[in-house]
This record gives sequence, structure tokens and C-alpha cells, in this order.
Amino acid sequence: MLPFLITLSVLLLIIVVLIIRSYFSDKHIAKAVRTVLFVVIFPVLANMIISLSLDQISVSIAYQVYLISTDWLLFALLLFTLEYCDINRTWRTYLIAGVLFADTVSIVLNQVFGHVYGLELIRTIDGRPYYILHSEVGHYIHLALSFLLMLLLFVLIIRKLRMTSRIYFEKYLVILSVLAFASIWEAYYIIFKVPVDKSMIGYEICAILIYFFGVEYQQLFLRYQMFKCVIAKTSEAVFFFDESFRCIYISPGAYDMFNIKQDDFETPEKYLSQYHYTKNPLGQDMVSNLIITREDGKHTFNVQYKRVYDRNNSILGAFVILDDRTEEVKRLAKERFNATHDSLTGLFDDNYFREKVSEKLRSVKNGEYLMVVSDIREFKVINDLFGREAGDRVLTKIADIIRENASEDEIYGRIGADNFAVLISKKKFHIDKFINVTNDLFFVEGHPDYKIVNQYGIYEIKDTSVSVPAMLDRAFMALSTVKYGTGRKFAYFDQEIRDDIIWEQIITGSVEYAISSGQIVPYFQAQVNSDGRAEGAEVLVRWIHPTEGMVSPGRFIGILEKSGKIIEIDKFMWESACKTIRKWLDEGKDGFYLSVNISPKDFYYADLYEVFTDLIDKYNISPKYLRLEITESVMITDVERKLEVIDKLRNAGFILEIDDFGSGYSSLNLLKDMPVDVLKIDMVFLSKTKNKDKALIILQQIINMAQNLIIPVITEGVETEEQLNYLTKMGCKMFQGYYFSRPESLEDFEKKYMIK
Ligand code: C2E
Ligand code: CA
Ligand code: CA
Repeated sequence: MLPFLITLSVLLLIIVVLIIRSYFSDKHIAKAVRTVLFVVIFPVLANMIISLSLDQISVSIAYQVYLISTDWLLFALLLFTLEYCDINRTWRTYLIAGVLFADTVSIVLNQVFGHVYGLELIRTIDGRPYYILHSEVGHYIHLALSFLLMLLLFVLIIRKLRMTSRIYFEKYLVILSVLAFASIWEAYYIIFKVPVDKSMIGYEICAILIYFFGVEYQQLFLRYQMFKCVIAKTSEAVFFFDESFRCIYISPGAYDMFNIKQDDFETPEKYLSQYHYTKNPLGQDMVSNLIITREDGKHTFNVQYKRVYDRNNSILGAFVILDDRTEEVKRLAKERFNATHDSLTGLFDDNYFREKVSEKLRSVKNGEYLMVVSDIREFKVINDLFGREAGDRVLTKIADIIRENASEDEIYGRIGADNFAVLISKKKFHIDKFINVTNDLFFVEGHPDYKIVNQYGIYEIKDTSVSVPAMLDRAFMALSTVKYGTGRKFAYFDQEIRDDIIWEQIITGSVEYAISSGQIVPYFQAQVNSDGRAEGAEVLVRWIHPTEGMVSPGRFIGILEKSGKIIEIDKFMWESACKTIRKWLDEGKDGFYLSVNISPKDFYYADLYEVFTDLIDKYNISPKYLRLEITESVMITDVERKLEVIDKLRNAGFILEIDDFGSGYSSLNLLKDMPVDVLKIDMVFLSKTKNKDKALIILQQIINMAQNLIIPVITEGVETEEQLNYLTKMGCKMFQGYYFSRPESLEDFEKKYMIK
């Protein structure tokens, strides 16, 4: 008896310790386990009293406690099982609790009815008196209930066991075995009615095991299985090596990736020998890229090499994880290619060409290289005439020729629609050869007589610190000087172009200041009648430059038209004209008009109608004193809008003159559509011609036609008396030209024409 009691007590102590321990567990199941541990204390204590006490009443109460607490122990086990198997409690759980409660009541009432058990005093083998239980019907009901509940636990666990994956067997199997052990132990005492009931030891052990398996036990097998599954699932190749770099494990992914035969550990050793840590004892774990050539080509792997140590820091081995990045590397390379290359020709695109050139120029000496840009003459025509595809074929062909002829240190790209650029060493560049290979070969397929002409601008890189965009600009500037029809196919960026650029910069940079500081001044050239008397004057701009002296408009009008700044000068000139008219009116010099020039570009930068009406309002002058000169070239683009402006100006009373009439291409046609007040015929275009006779006939016809249309004519550029005479004979009545006077300052003009 004593050993039994000692065992019971020791186990009880353990249980109490475990209850306390369970509070420190963060496992979800710990609470359910703790309930089991707690409830198991009651039958154990009762069992002890039964074994020790000889007092019938206390033994009887102990039996009552014992029976009731086995009910609730089973219920605690049920709750544990539900929790353990992840089964939700339902109304059935509460029904069972109800039934157990009824059994509890029944057991309590045994004191009154004696329907559960009676006590019988026996003597144990060692002669001690012992009260054993004499079962009545209520006890059998209790036993049946306990049996059914136990059965339910088995059913629940077995069902779970069948439903879950094999790797979870361990988890349920251990608990199943614990319960089986407890039931067999208990059954033994019930069936054989062993005099002293030692089944409590079984319950205690059961509770302790439940604690162990539920709370403490790490599911090693499960972990191992999971770990294997995870490794098998990853697409990476995983290898384990022992301390002497013998391969001891190859993951399934690795078998596929390297086509390794089962358990051929030598292949990975061979592939990965460079990671051998003994070669590199102080070296670190590594992440690097490895390129391995296999039957199907080169493969790029990302390699993770890590050594594994035990707790004492002695080496256990290493593992290598290889991730096949071949596709990604290819994709990235392709993306990079697409982002940096022109999709049609496969050459570098503009950005990448510039990037590559500036990279290259870091190691290039001044004067060693040339920047060559090309442009196909009238490429738009090719597209329009033969279709876009034909145009594309031309471009691809040029690209092919450039590629085939390029030497290694050349950089080339397609930097615009029909513009190619080549950075080429000066030594290797021979312009004739270059043009021959890249030019005369071209023709549009199916149209052999349509020759394509590629033109070139060349910039010698004398200073590599100049920015690439500036180099390209200069090459293009040279290209722009290759004029159509001159037969020239190339031009170097030379001193002249350089000077032009500098001049352009000076002009555009200082025009505002020039206006405000009085460097811009109007000059006046008289328009005289047959009597030699001035009726008015043309106002012509002069730039009195502080260092350049008197600059004539030919040197800056074009530049300012390009940058749009022409409007600033013109507005100033128009206002100067109005001011002068006002002055003359105030001085009583009535009747003089002034002609001002309007650049075709002015139409884009200002509302001319508003500007001119504002001006005559401001100076309170009649519009008939202000004549507006526009050239035919105004009517090349945006005709309708411009005609509207012109109409409005004429309706407001301004007199409109067509400047340089006859020098353009569509002069005659223009007269049909354009409302005109005065024609200014340009003598200058006549003076250069060899066929003077024919020219005079044309001039005569123009004058006749104007007379028929009742449009007054002024001839400008009259330099000689002879010219004056035949023009007079032809019927021209108004003249302007050096023969009478050059453009001159206001003062000079007034002196000459207004004294009388
Ligand atoms: P344009 O409107 O045809 O002006 C007439 C040009 O012919 C003037 O040149 C004038 O000096 C020149 N000229 C006059 N008589 C003779 C002659 O007998 N023989 C020769 N060979 N030339 C003669 P300029 O002043 O150098 O002006 C050149 C051009 O600049 C003008 O041609 C006009 O298109 C433009 N221009 C001048 N002033 C202005 C202006 O204020 N605004 C705008 N937008 N353009 C202007
Ligand atoms: Ca003019
Ligand atoms: Ca003119």
C-alpha cells in the first residue's frame, strides 16, 4: 500500500508543478491541459482517502468525490480533445455536460437512495481492512457513461487521424496512445475488480503525458516531414555538405535542375567545389552569381553559400542554395536592350547613343574623334510616295550598312526619324569612302531610278569637354548648311559656322537691351514720285552696335525670326514710325506716310490687328499714314487666318503693300486671292539676270497687269537714271532706291525732303 501511495503522491506533486508550468506556456492548448491536470487531482485525492481511511462515512464521501470527478475528468479530456483536434464545441458538448451533471446529482443522491453503490469491508492480502465499492444500478450507468465518453474521445481522434495528412499522424497517435493506455489501465481494475483500485496512477500518468505531448513535446517528426516537403517544393536547388564538403543531401529541385541521377553526390561537389570552405577557412558565407554551362546553354544562378555550426561553434558542414535566374537575367537584358535600342533598326537610340558617347569621350583625346550626323534628303517624300514601309526599309538598310562597316571603337545610333549619328575615329574616317558606302547604294526597292541621298554634318571633337548635345547640335548645324541642289553631301562644322553661332548667341542675348538702350534705330528711305518729291518713306531697322558698328538687318532679322524675338524689334519699329508721323503732324508737315515691315513670324507672336489699332489710337493718327509691307511668303501657311487679319487691317483703313513682288514663286496667283493696295516690285531680282530683255518684258507685263487691276506700283532698288527712265516709260510712277537716297537717319531724311 505504501509504495502505491508514495507513487500517487509523487505523481500528484508533479501534476501540481505542471499546472504551474502550464501558466508559462504560450501554447494555445495549455489552458485545456491545465484543466485536465487540475481535475485529475480530485479523484487522486479521493482515491488516497479511500485507501487510507477506515471511517465508513469519509470513505463513502471519498467514493462520491471519486465518481463525480472521474465524470468531469472525462469532460475535461473531451474539451482537451476538441481543442487538440481543432473541433468546435457545439450544443452536443453542452448536452454531454448536462448528462454528466445529471450523473453527478445521481451520485450525490446516493447518500439518500443508495442506488449507486454500497460499501463492503474486505481485507486486503496484507490483512488491512479496505472498503470496496459494491456496485448498484447507478454505478453501472456511471460506468457506461464513462465508457461511452471514452469511446467518443477515440472516435474523435481516429476521425481526425483519418482526415489529416499522414505527416500529422504522429500528433494524434501520441494522444490516442495515451488515452488507450489510461482506458486499458482503468478497464483492468473494473473488469477484474482488483481489491485496491490503483487506476488513479493511470489517470495521473495519462494527465502528465497529455501535458507532455500537448504542451512540451515538439513535433519532431512533423517538423522533419514539413521541412522535407518545403525543400522539395521550392524550385531552388538545395545541397547539404558535411564537414569535408561531401554532399550528403540533394533536394528534388536540384535533381531536376542539374539532371543529377539519384544519389549522385559527386556532381554537386564538382560544380560547387569553389565554395569549399576549407579552401576559404576565414572566408565568409557568400551570395554570388555562378554561370554554369549545361547542355541547353549557359545558366546564371544566384548562389547562397552558408556554413553551419553547432552550439560549440565547431563546423557541421555547409549548405548551398542555387536559384536559377537565367530567365530573369535574359529578361532584364532584353528589357535593357529594348529601353536603349531603336526598335526598327536595333541601333542605339538617341539617349543611349549620347550616354555611350559621353562614356567613351572620357578616354578620348582632343581631335581624335569626329561626330557625324546624317539626314536623308526629303525623307518625308519617300514616305509619302512609296509608303511608310518602304521608308522603314530604307532606314533598316542604312542601319545595316553602318553596322557592317563600323569598326570596333565606333559608336553609332539612330537619333531621330531619318537621322543617324556616328562617333568615329578621325584616322579611320575618309569622307569619300564614307559617303560611297552609305550613300549611292540606296534606292527604294522597285524604284531603281529614285536615288536616296544621305547628307552629312561633321563635327571634329577638338574639345572633349563639350557636352554631347552641343556636339550633336554643331554637327547638325554643319548639316543644315548642305543646301539642297548644291550637290554637296556633307559639310564640316567650321570657323564660319562657329562664328555664326556666336553671332546668333550675341544677337538673341542682347536684343532686349539693344532696344531699351537705343541701339535699335529706324532709318528712312524715301519713296519718291516722278517729280523726285518724297511722298513717304520706308522705315528700315538699323542696329547701332557698340562694338560692331552699324549692323544692317540682313545680319539679325533671320536670327530673330528663328527665336521669335523679331516681334520685339518690329513693335518698336512700328511705334517709332507712329511717333514720327505724330511729330510731323504736330510740326505741320502733313501728308507724309511711312511704310513699315512686317515679318511673316509676327503673325504668330502678336494680334497684329490689335497692335496696329492700339498704336494709331495712342498717337491719334489716321491709318492711311501707316503702310504695312508684307511679303508673299506670308501666304505660304495658315492662309485663312492671316487673310482674316489682313482683311480686318484693311477695313480699319491701313494700306497694305506686297513687298518684293515678283521675287517669289506664286506672285501672280497671289493677286487673285489677296486683297492688295500697293505692289512693291523688287528691282534687285531683275538686276542679276543675264536675260535682261526678257526680264524687262516681264517687268512691263507686271506693271500692265497692276494697272489693269488698278493697283498702284512702286519699284524699289532703283539705282540708275537709266532704270528710272525705262520704268517711267513702262508706266511706273513711284520709286525707291539708292538713285534717290539711301536709308538715312530721321534728321537726314527731314533735312533732305522736308525743308521746303
Ligand atoms: P526690304 O523690305 O526689301 O527692304 C528694302 C531693302 O533694300 C533695304 O535693305 C534697303 O536698304 C535696300 N535697298 C533700297 N534701295 C536699294 C537699291 O537701290 N539698291 C539695293 N541694292 N538695295 C536697296 P535693308 O535695310 O538692309 O533691309 C533688308 C531687309 O530687312 C528688308 O528688305 C526687310 O525685309 C528687312 N527689314 C528691314 N527693316 C525691318 C524691320 O523693321 N522689320 C522687319 N521685320 N524686317 C525688316
Ligand atoms: Ca520692305
Ligand atoms: Ca523689298
